[in-house]
Amino acid sequence: MKATLAPPSSLISLPRHKVSSLRSPSLLLQSQRPSSALMTTTASRGSVAVTAAATSSAEALREGIAEFYNETSGLWEEIWGDHMHHGFYDPDSSVQLSDSGHREAQIRMIEESLRFAGVTEEEKKIKIVVDVGCGIGGSSRYIASKFGAECIGITLSPVQAKRANDLATAQSLSHKVSFQVADALDQPFEDGIFDLVWSMESGEHMPDKAKFVKELVRVTAPGGRIIIVTWCHRNLSQGEESLQPWEQNLLDRICKTFYLPAWCSTTDYVELLQSLSLQDIKYADWSENVAPFWPAVIRTALTWKGLVSLLRSGMKSIKGALTIPLMIEGYKKGVIKFGIITCQKPL
Ligand code: SAH
Repeated sequence: MKATLAPPSSLISLPRHKVSSLRSPSLLLQSQRPSSALMTTTASRGSVAVTAAATSSAEALREGIAEFYNETSGLWEEIWGDHMHHGFYDPDSSVQLSDSGHREAQIRMIEESLRFAGVTEEEKKIKIVVDVGCGIGGSSRYIASKFGAECIGITLSPVQAKRANDLATAQSLSHKVSFQVADALDQPFEDGIFDLVWSMESGEHMPDKAKFVKELVRVTAPGGRIIIVTWCHRNLSQGEESLQPWEQNLLDRICKTFYLPAWCSTTDYVELLQSLSLQDIKYADWSENVAPFWPAVIRTALTWKGLVSLLRSGMKSIKGALTIPLMIEGYKKGVIKFGIITCQKPL
C-alpha cells in the first residue's frame, strides 16, 4: 500500500527514469543523477555540489518514505490487516469479496509469487530469508511459518519495524523473525547469506534500480533465489525513447502522493539481472490479476469505518485516497504494469 503524504517540494523534481539510462553503464547509479531543478542551481558550482544535491534529494526521499509509512501504516492495518500489498485474483473475476476474501487474495499473492519462482513447500533449502521493504512484516511471518525459516525484515519506517516485532512476539514468532530499520540500497548484511531474497512492492520506492538489484544480488547466497514483485511502467516499444508525455504526467502525479521516484519497466529489471549473469530469470505481467484491488480499496474507504478512519488520519490520507483513481486509470490504460521478476544466483 502506498498511502498518503504529500512530498516535500524537493521530491517533486526527482530525476525521471529513462530506460536508456539503465542500459548505459555510466548512468546505472540513478540516485547520483541530480534532478534538473537541482542541476540549474548547482551545476555551475561543480560536481561536488551536484553530488551533494543528489545525495540530499535521495535523503529527502528516504525521510519522506519513512514518515509516510510511520503515519499511515496504522490506518492500513486497521482496515486491511498486516499485508501492505495487492491481492492476486483470477483475471476477469467480478470481485465483490468480503474483507476476508481480499485478505485471502493478499496471501494468494505471496503463494503465487513463491510458486512462480519455483519455491515449493517441500523446499528444504530455504533456511534464511531477507524481506526487503517489509512493511509490518506480513510476508516475513507468513514465510517463516511456511518454511520454518528465519526471516529478517528491513524497512525505512521505525514505526513499522516496531509494530512488526510486536506482532512477531504476539504470534510467538520472535525466535524466527525480526525487523529493523535499514536501507535496501545499503543493507547491513554480509555478502551471500540469504537463501531467499524477497521484495514485495518495495522496488517502486527505490531511486536507483541498478543499485537496488545489485544489493539484492550481493546478499543472496550462491544458489539462492530473488523474488521482486513491483509496480512498473509498460515496456517501451521498439524505437521509443520514453513514455508519452501524458503517461509520464500520470505517473508523476502518482509519485507525488505516494513517495515514489522514477519508475522503470519489467524489461529494465530483466536486463539488469542479465547484466549481472543471474540464472533462470523469469518474469510475468500480473496486471490483470491485481486489477480488482484498488477498486476494492476505494469501496473500503467509502464504508462508514473507512471514512471515519480516513478522516481521523487527516488531509494527507485523504489526498492518498484521492490518488487511487489514478492507479486504476494507469492500469486500465496499460501504463502501469504489475510485474514479478525472479532469478537464481549461480552456485
Ligand atoms: N512488503 C511489505 C510492505 C510494502 S510497502 C508488504 O507487502 O506488506 C513498501 C515498504 O518498502 C515499506 O515498508 C517501506 O518502508 C519500504 N521501503 C521503501 N524504500 C525502502 C528502502 N530504501 N529501504 C528499505 N525499505 C524501504
